[in-house]
Amino acid sequence: MPLQVQLLPTSLGDHSQTQSLTSFLINDTIAIDAGSLGFSLGGAQLANVGHVILTHSHLDHIASLPIAIAEVFPRLKRSMRIYATPGVLKAVQDHLLNGVIWPDFSRIKMLGSNNMALEFIPIEPRIPFDIDGIRFTPIPVNHEVPTIGLVAQAADATVVFTSDTCCTDDIWAAASTHSNLRAIFVDCSFPDEMEQLAIQSGHLTPRLVAAETAKLTRPAKIICVHIKPDTRDKVLAQLAAHHERQISPVEIGKTYHFNGVDNV
Ligand SMILES: [Zn+2]
Ligand SMILES: [Zn+2]
Repeated sequence: MPLQVQLLPTSLGDHSQTQSLTSFLINDTIAIDAGSLGFSLGGAQLANVGHVILTHSHLDHIASLPIAIAEVFPRLKRSMRIYATPGVLKAVQDHLLNGVIWPDFSRIKMLGSNNMALEFIPIEPRIPFDIDGIRFTPIPVNHEVPTIGLVAQAADATVVFTSDTCCTDDIWAAASTHSNLRAIFVDCSFPDEMEQLAIQSGHLTPRLVAAETAKLTRPAKIICVHIKPDTRDKVLAQLAAHHERQISPVEIGKTYHFNGVDNV
């Protein structure tokens, strides 16, 4: 089972490299976060996504979930599964799919079926769960609200997603335990001169990313995401100084293939 990862653009046909909403697509069938999922994929592609893992309740990670489920509803052959910690599931149920902002699709039957369109699946920190041949382990990180990063293990490769985080130890320790670790997609929201804001809001800067990755005990590509559009140029310039440590900005829309020793 290969591991393919794409950071989706913010909307369909958006070829810019600015990212204000977060969704990763894994192997066409799994999404991590739904910030842009429902805005950036057309109906047929969206219909392949049967599983959505939410890392936390912030809007830039859940904004398009209501649109995604409504878009895909007529094509649904099985319930769309939403995985998150109980607190995040409750936030989504109370404030988003609450019958006011949007219908609660976990109470709406799929066309021609007695099964509901949406299924909420609680997950717990450090308890692995398997989806379509990938093992995911949620690891708590350091953000404004309870947030999990994810360790994603396929047969030949392990890739880690920090989600939104400031300085933290556990996810770097968890990543270091995997001999086939290939890459870490890490928060790098703000430039170095905004370090105070980054720390207050639970994010990282290029300098902090470099310091954090020194906690890793094995090599991996460090791919920076969540770069705020307004200060993106500054972040890119500062990341260039850390290039020799395999730290680079993500290419939005590119499909990264992680299988075996060589990464593409
Ligand atoms: Zn956040
Ligand atoms: Zn965010």
